[in-house]
Amino acid sequence: MGSTGSFKKIHRISKVIILDHQDCGAYASKFEIMPKDDLEAEQQIHTQYLNQAYQQVKQHHPELIVELYFMLLNGEARPVLPEA
Ligand SMILES: [Zn+2]
Repeated sequence: MGSTGSFKKIHRISKVIILDHQDCGAYASKFEIMPKDDLEAEQQIHTQYLNQAYQQVKQHHPELIVELYFMLLNGEARPVLPEA
């Protein structure tokens, strides 16, 4: 997260958007069991990891607005609400 600090200073960013997507090869190689035909189950896994990313950014930069999305192959970007 050290590099995020200097990046923020240079670019004055105030918002971070984290975008996962459906049918992700990186997730498929990381998890042996990735639901193939169950979109909601797939999104549920992404929601877990999007939330981890959310917590990590917030921990180091609580002032940043962080938005989470799960993007479908048809282009729809579903907002993912951070879990409390
Ligand atoms: Zn991917």
